[in-house]
Amino acid sequence: MYPQPAGIEEQPNAYEVTFYLQDNMARIAIEYTTINPPDIVKIKRGIYTVETPKRYLNLAERLINAYETVYNNLTRIFSTNLTSVYVKFYAPSLEDLWIGGFIPFNGTHLSEINLNLFFIRTSPGYWEQIAIHELIHHFVWAAGISPNLLWFHEGLAEYISFELTLGAGWTGAEDRRERLEIIAEALKQEYGFIQDWRPGKLSGNIIMYYAAAYSVVKELAQSYGGLEFYRKFFSQIKGFKNITSTDTLVYYLSKCAEEDLTPKFIQWRFNVVNIYAVHEAIQEGKDAVARQLPIAQPWATVARKLIEQAEDAIRRGDLKEALMKAIIGGFIAKISLTLTILTVGAVVLLIMRRLICEEI
Ligand SMILES: [Zn+2]
Repeated sequence: MYPQPAGIEEQPNAYEVTFYLQDNMARIAIEYTTINPPDIVKIKRGIYTVETPKRYLNLAERLINAYETVYNNLTRIFSTNLTSVYVKFYAPSLEDLWIGGFIPFNGTHLSEINLNLFFIRTSPGYWEQIAIHELIHHFVWAAGISPNLLWFHEGLAEYISFELTLGAGWTGAEDRRERLEIIAEALKQEYGFIQDWRPGKLSGNIIMYYAAAYSVVKELAQSYGGLEFYRKFFSQIKGFKNITSTDTLVYYLSKCAEEDLTPKFIQWRFNVVNIYAVHEAIQEGKDAVARQLPIAQPWATVARKLIEQAEDAIRRGDLKEALMKAIIGGFIAKISLTLTILTVGAVVLLIMRRLICEEI
């Protein structure tokens, strides 16, 4: 709640602002704009460039040190490295005070990391967790996960940054982790609402999205080997660029877990299709087409085309479309002879009616 000032009076060299508070606790934040632009400097070390107001140069050094501490671990987990990392420090407005950092995404590319200077006075580790969270987005993207699969991006960024910062003894990250875990508990394992979360869409309850995404990533890690599970996953998808759908993701996670995770995701209220079921439907459809007599036209051809479109949809990662086309294609293939007889019958009937009409 932001009470309006009850009065502003000009004093020599100062302004006196009066507020009437409704209780005994308050935090005062003042948003202001300076006349002169800040003295921005750039510091570069290795792959890192940090753009900062000059007075925060030490902080830029602290950031690069933190990034260097975790970098090798991250390249090991994600089976990839980064060629350059660009970071900008910014002063927040009151409206975006609580956003620790962000990375603009233009639909295809992630750009520079922006870090909110407001959080630098938190306990050691809190700010590092935010900074490493943002760095992890770049690794996840470089490893082939589309930022449109935002729940997985955020879940990994939270989970892995907690593991690395707390593992390095930067205990300040514990506050955020505890907060997410408390919020997640109230969700009672119903995490599926995060499936359609996309970049740029913010809501008042955004912390619930982070909590749910973190919980899914954490619970999978707890069941299948911690960070090593994700190291295996990223080594497996190496070279397979741009995973965009939860269906495809669950398929590759299942391969790493050596167990079909579809039921688990359905139990978490995700809307996912089992890729094995789609392949089965396609095979059944192909078998049904192969069994048809050459005279069962044009329906056998229609069925074959649908099965081909289903295979194409799998390649695009659209499992729902693939399943629908495979089922319809298979069904048409099975009854294509009957459909052909009905079609021929209808055509013969039409011709006969026309002849009879012409005779009359
Ligand atoms: Zn994030």
